[in-house]
Amino acid sequence: MTEHHTAPTPISKLTAKKRPAVRYAIRVLVSFCVLLVAAQGWSAWTARQSRLAEHASATSNMAGALAAQAESTVRIVDTVLAGVVERVEHDGSSPAANDRLHAHMRNMVSQVKEVHGLFVYGPDGSWLVTSLERPIAANNADREYFQYHEHNRSRAVHVGKPIRSRSSGVWVLPVSRRIDKPDGSFGGVALGTIEISFFAELYESFDVGHQGAVVLARDDGTLVYRRPFNEKLVATSVANGPIFSMYRSSGPVGTAMLRSNIDGVTRLYSYRHLGTLPLIVAVAKSKGEILSEWHQSTVLLSAVTLLAVLLLAGVGVRLVRQIMIRDQLEAELRTAKQGLQQRNQELTVLATNDGLTGIANRRHFEETLRLELKRARRTGAPLSLVLLDVDFFKKYNDRYGHVAGDECLRQVAGALGGVLARPTDLAARYGGEEFAMILPATGQVGARYVAERLRLAVMDLGIPHADNPLGIATISAGACTFHGTPGENDDPEAFVMRADALLYRAKAQGRNRVCTDLDAVGIVPAPPLAI
Ligand code: GH3
Ligand code: MG
Ligand code: MG
Repeated sequence: MTEHHTAPTPISKLTAKKRPAVRYAIRVLVSFCVLLVAAQGWSAWTARQSRLAEHASATSNMAGALAAQAESTVRIVDTVLAGVVERVEHDGSSPAANDRLHAHMRNMVSQVKEVHGLFVYGPDGSWLVTSLERPIAANNADREYFQYHEHNRSRAVHVGKPIRSRSSGVWVLPVSRRIDKPDGSFGGVALGTIEISFFAELYESFDVGHQGAVVLARDDGTLVYRRPFNEKLVATSVANGPIFSMYRSSGPVGTAMLRSNIDGVTRLYSYRHLGTLPLIVAVAKSKGEILSEWHQSTVLLSAVTLLAVLLLAGVGVRLVRQIMIRDQLEAELRTAKQGLQQRNQELTVLATNDGLTGIANRRHFEETLRLELKRARRTGAPLSLVLLDVDFFKKYNDRYGHVAGDECLRQVAGALGGVLARPTDLAARYGGEEFAMILPATGQVGARYVAERLRLAVMDLGIPHADNPLGIATISAGACTFHGTPGENDDPEAFVMRADALLYRAKAQGRNRVCTDLDAVGIVPAPPLAI
């Protein structure tokens, strides 16, 4: 009841719009979800890249190992071949020398597992000596390697295109050298063959997965061996395939993710040229197989992340909802508080003011009078009280009715307010058609002056009153003053009774006049002031 002000409290100043809790909560949660998804995406991406890099290095190493094996296989066969050439060129081709060479060749084939067969052809392509048990009457002048040596004086080893052996019918890789006659002219060809299936055995032990591939090819693109093995593909050209297009653009060693021409599978290819030999080895692992584990773990982790994000979002929605509910409750509380404050003010006004006239009521009057009497006693300043009463008001009511009576009282109250000049003065409705004025720091003369002014002010209102001898409404007033002298009675009731007695005297003397203490002791005559 003591709070009269309506200034908003610090919290109520923060409206829901200004309060950033909801926005903060949403921002933090959304950022958290985005971070979570980004972190998962990034970790999945790096895991994928590192897995591909690991496999790139593993396939490259494997290609290196396979190349070394292919080279050593060809070198072993070439070493045997070099021995055969040396014998033919040195010992000639007498029947005895041929017999010895035949025995040597048979021995080599049985001792050196890399060698499938050994052959010596004459300058016309006819079979001279072979590692076969029985010689075959055939001519190999049509073979690519034969024609190569016939027209090429180089004594270096030649690796030919895969061919189907005339003696055994299996696919072989021909390794050959030129034989010179003593005068340097073409003396024939020495040939060693490596069975293609030898490479199959060699390369079977390498793990390249179900969809992986191992390729051995001549550097002109002729396929020698491919795992998985398919006889139909031997000696076909893969020059337009991914390995060779990479070989042509990137050089002797390379690794890349490419799509196979043969089966359409995307693979990580690593190839290597054998260096001194015209062969290329390539290893390929299927991308799908390389990434299958990564794929599984990524799907699992993504599902977990999604779950976490959903959980967070769920918690976030509840949190935001609760904050909003709290905001709403606070808003309602604020409204209720404001309503209460207003009601309190209204109650205070009701408790201290008169309902009809709006000026202070009897209660307020008594309280103020009590305080002002105490103050006057304390400070020694005079305090005056004026009691006034509307003349012949009962008759006014009887003639004009209560509603008009009320209106008359309102007008008189308004005149009271107009007369009082100081903020410390108080005008109050004492009861019925009686009013009072408390005038602090006002002496007898001042009180009389105010009372007279009021009397004139009411007459100035000119409210018609047929039952008043003057024909208008008038008032009578009694004014007394408390001087604060020692022994003076400062009881409010006694003070009011003094004023009331003076009012009674004013009525008795004919109304429409003011009686004061001064009149009471007969110092100043109290004729009514001229109108
Ligand atoms: P006097 O000149 O001696 O004062 O005569 P009077 O008729 O005014 O005397 P009295 O004090 O006996 O009359 C008071 C009348 O005022 C009684 C009542 O009808 C009227 N009255 C009191 N309170 C109210 C009020 O709130 N409204 C109205 N309309 N009349 C009131
Ligand atoms: Mg009266
Ligand atoms: Mg009266």
